Amino acid sequence: MRLSRYFLPTLKETPREAEIVSHRLMLRAGMIRQEAAGIYSWLPLGKRVLDKICTIIREEQDRSGAIEVLMPTLQPADLWIESGRYDAYGQEMLRITDRHDRPMLYGPTNEEMITAIFKSGVRSYKDLPLNLYHIQWKVRDEVRPRFGTMRSREFLMKDAYSFDLDAEAARRAYYRMFVAYLRTFSRMGLTSVPMKADTGPIGGDLSHEFIILADTGESEVFCDKAMLDLPIPSEDTDFSGDLADLVAPFTAPYAATDEMHDQAAFETAVPEERRVSARGIEVGHIFYFGTKYSAPMGAVVTGPDGKDVPVEMGSYGIGPSRLVPAIIEASHDDDGIIWPASVAPFDVGIINMRSGDEACNSACTSLEAQLQARGLDVLYDDTDARGGAKFAQMDLIGLPKQIIVGPKGLKNGEVEVKDRKTGERSLMSPDAAVNALA
Ligand code: ATP
Ligand code: MG
Ligand code: MG
Ligand code: MG
Repeated sequence: MRLSRYFLPTLKETPREAEIVSHRLMLRAGMIRQEAAGIYSWLPLGKRVLDKICTIIREEQDRSGAIEVLMPTLQPADLWIESGRYDAYGQEMLRITDRHDRPMLYGPTNEEMITAIFKSGVRSYKDLPLNLYHIQWKVRDEVRPRFGTMRSREFLMKDAYSFDLDAEAARRAYYRMFVAYLRTFSRMGLTSVPMKADTGPIGGDLSHEFIILADTGESEVFCDKAMLDLPIPSEDTDFSGDLADLVAPFTAPYAATDEMHDQAAFETAVPEERRVSARGIEVGHIFYFGTKYSAPMGAVVTGPDGKDVPVEMGSYGIGPSRLVPAIIEASHDDDGIIWPASVAPFDVGIINMRSGDEACNSACTSLEAQLQARGLDVLYDDTDARGGAKFAQMDLIGLPKQIIVGPKGLKNGEVEVKDRKTGERSLMSPDAAVNALA
């Protein structure tokens, strides 16, 4: 991509309305634009990051055996009246009436709709286990939308729903998502901590929030420091087996959000030097809720004994549009964002220090072509802005690697390669630069 033809409306000034660093940087880097309170457009740079995040989520959902669907954003109120949640959900639900006076709503989540889909397509235990997911915009009319896309009113969610014959099979399904979540967040360069969360009236211990520790997080959390360095299950994990042994190391140490926290138990379980009490960002939430929706909605399967039973369900959410700022909270410096390679909007930025100069132009276009041929996404700053402005903008948008091409260096056959994270710079030939980066 040539910067001269791109749409990258970066800001020099720090926007006053933004309270936390990720919100400031997303606005400054031209990733998003606010359209109304808690409602954002995703501009090209932001859209690329969001897409990369969704790709990782998809790959890990698919690997775990979940199947992608796409449900609509608008839902008929009937479904929610059936489940009993229409009145209970309260003001976070954005209610709409269509031209025929039919009550509709903009979906805040999809348990009801997926249960209806399941009901119309599955009758027998032989079709289980089943896990259906989608990545779709949700609306919750948050009382206090804030921090940009961290808590917005319209936000993207990956929500998966598992269906099993009995509680034991549902536990296995829960563990599959548990492992998929660990892998998903780790691939984004994040240390996620699964923390015991409230299960509501159902009880049991199968509800975890996946939390990223950050001072700006809205949740108060408590855990054993040991939770922060556990090895993540590998790519070759056999998702057809029981994953209890892989999950156990993550559920053994103390880790709880404030709702579930028990200070006395915390102090008994964790020696003082390992006690972490911190703030965190909820980026995912997994939940086993049994027959809460299947029973009232009549979603039953016929078991091996010929008897019909309501299907056992769980739901599993991730917030991709919250992950973008969460990753920035975890990875930035005074100059801007530092993208982990896996979610970076482009892999490499090329800075032409003297656009118009024939040697500089041809070195840059050749670098661009070679890097692209090796499968890298390249943003080539071919504009005639000042060098200082180009450096500042490239640092702000946080691409992992930069190649700086100037007339002086080229005379010696050299370009400069800079690592955004370490700040390390090294001179080398353009060919060596291509080999170093691709
Ligand atoms: P919170 O406690 O932050 O309000 P929640 O518990 O209401 O979140 P869930 O119903 O568990 O959210 O939804 C699953 C995921 O969707 C969350 O873990 C989070 O990543 C994301 N999410 C929820 N609400 C928002 C929001 N307003 N803006 C952005 N992402 C959100
Ligand atoms: Mg909420
Ligand atoms: Mg929550
Ligand atoms: Mg939650």
